[in-house]
Amino acid sequence: MPPLTCCVDAAAAAAASDSTAAWSPADSSRLYRVEGWGAPYFTVNSNGNISVRPHGAQTLAHQEIDLLKVVKKASGPETSDGLELGLGLPLVVRFPDVLKNRLESLQSSFDSAIESQKYNSHYQGVYPVKCNQDKFVVEDIVKFGSGFKFGLEAGSKPELLLAMSSLCSGSPDALLVCNGFKDVEFVSLALVAKKLHLNTVIVLEQEEELDIVIEVSKKLGVRPVIGARAKLRTKHSGHFGSTSGEKGKFGLTTSQLLRVVKKLRDYEMLDCLRMLHFHIGSQIPSTNLLADAVDEAAQIYCELVRLGAHMGVIDVGGGLGIDYDGSKSSDSKNSVAYTLQDYASAVVRSVRSVCDSRGVKHPIICSESGRAIVSHHSILVFEAVSNSTSSCNSPEISSLDFEEQLKDDALANYRNLSAAAAKNDYESCLNYAEQLKERRVEQLNYAEQLKERCVKQFKKGSLGMEEMAAVDARCELMFKEIGFPEPVSTYHVNLSIFTSIPDFWGIDQLFPIIPIHRLTESPKKEAILSDLTCDSDGKIDKFIGGKSSLRLHELGEGGGKGNGGYYLGMFLGGAYEEALGGVHNLFGRPSVVRVSQSDGPQSFAVMDDAVPGASCGDVLRAMNHNPEVMLKTLKARSDEFVGISSELASSFNKMPYLG
Ligand SMILES: *Cc1c(COP(=O)(O)O)cnc(C)c1O
Repeated sequence: MPPLTCCVDAAAAAAASDSTAAWSPADSSRLYRVEGWGAPYFTVNSNGNISVRPHGAQTLAHQEIDLLKVVKKASGPETSDGLELGLGLPLVVRFPDVLKNRLESLQSSFDSAIESQKYNSHYQGVYPVKCNQDKFVVEDIVKFGSGFKFGLEAGSKPELLLAMSSLCSGSPDALLVCNGFKDVEFVSLALVAKKLHLNTVIVLEQEEELDIVIEVSKKLGVRPVIGARAKLRTKHSGHFGSTSGEKGKFGLTTSQLLRVVKKLRDYEMLDCLRMLHFHIGSQIPSTNLLADAVDEAAQIYCELVRLGAHMGVIDVGGGLGIDYDGSKSSDSKNSVAYTLQDYASAVVRSVRSVCDSRGVKHPIICSESGRAIVSHHSILVFEAVSNSTSSCNSPEISSLDFEEQLKDDALANYRNLSAAAAKNDYESCLNYAEQLKERRVEQLNYAEQLKERCVKQFKKGSLGMEEMAAVDARCELMFKEIGFPEPVSTYHVNLSIFTSIPDFWGIDQLFPIIPIHRLTESPKKEAILSDLTCDSDGKIDKFIGGKSSLRLHELGEGGGKGNGGYYLGMFLGGAYEEALGGVHNLFGRPSVVRVSQSDGPQSFAVMDDAVPGASCGDVLRAMNHNPEVMLKTLKARSDEFVGISSELASSFNKMPYLG
């Protein structure tokens, strides 16, 4: 229950923001913290729409892409000239240019750290496929990264197959790092990759995997390149760090590493051990923790060199974080306190200083940054279709607290009011309410009390529906009169949170969600979002900045659609969300378009590989129903009564699951 003073503050704030001073795009940018989480890719333009800056800081003014125009083009009714594509919402809009810019920024951060610290080797990263396995995402990364030998990381057999085929068109030096649990088939496949001249490293996650590698490589006649994943003592204590530390799930302990070295030496294969790998978890909160981990790993690397392994690569794993809430704090789940450059500099500094002090040649530095590469390039756009204000969202005040706060005459008034309410004497109620008018808090509480008592009477059967409605209307009027901010509204959005934002539902991960247009207008509503699934968990009531509601604009008459649509965007969801939600179940997957910057008449072009979202038929099929049989049944029924079979057929095939 919120303290009453908080209600008064909120009322004052609402009154202040109501002033007629013009609302500018800069005000929206501040309210939604766009600069904090969005720079250099997203800004609010002078039309009050979100602009995408496809080349980051290097984007020229005429290259900026107005996101609303993209959405209109993709979702407008299909036209024969292809100007509008007729795709349903929700819609994932991908920007390969942004992906390219992220990859290049990561590379250049390492390049510049290496140059400024006079490091004697180079950086050569890999992209962990699990982060977003989409064909275009993986192929684009291989293409954009081939100039600097960027490779892929796979953690399962299907990922390895996907990585192998994608890397056939990449740089021959690009690394193919095989992590994850390995059985005979996985190891065989990795060795086949080596035979195909892919630069494959089999990383041992468990000691037993070495026996498989030794045996299968003999059988296939391939000399393997082996890496070892170290279980570091350095622990990342944040949400994603449970796999790190001595008790972590993955990697080899010090004694296991020693046994691996001994066994490789016994088999005259010590020259095969080339890479040391570690991964302390996602969203590493600070560069201090990172430096600790890299220091420890670099010492292990140097020890392996001393023991005679032909080491050449140190792989610092993933964990390069994203600032989801724009706060630049080390609250690792939603924010991190460093930049790409800080991260790269810290890695290079640690590896260099440990190797220098041990007199060991500088290794190639590899990282497996996933989230940091793919998060920005994809935006989920959805639509608010209606809103409602339900009394359960209005401020709750218990009667005890309430009576305690009342003084003297106000208390007498309140008691009279209550008595009148109990007698169904609404005229007297309103008279007493009038006397309380100057006292906003009391009046507000009175309205709540009145409602509560009426509900009790309704349940007993002594009050009719018309009277209940009249009381609700009176109370609402009172809220308005005293300028209390309206109760929180629920905006219904055409989205399945389980499919599109699984990490919000599963691990409370927050993503920036904002309207992508109307940003020249002051948003007056406080809202939570509710999706179109009938599940009570299908709502978003936590937002970046510790907020439990989001400021939104009024929908036009007849809901968002009647007013030309009210579009919201969820940003930074390019990593994990699609993989978790989209591939696990094909349930109501959103439509997808890819958009590139173009110097044509419009600043963008929609690529011709758009994928429509799931139809009702698709969704039924995923649950083992057979839409064709169902259609036949309904057709037979329809022939019996009225001829509407064509409408029926299109509801299975054309009608989108959402939207
Ligand atoms: C998940 C994972 C990554 C990617 O982590 P990010 O935090 O997305 O950079 C890298 N390496 C391994 C071994 C992983 O399991």
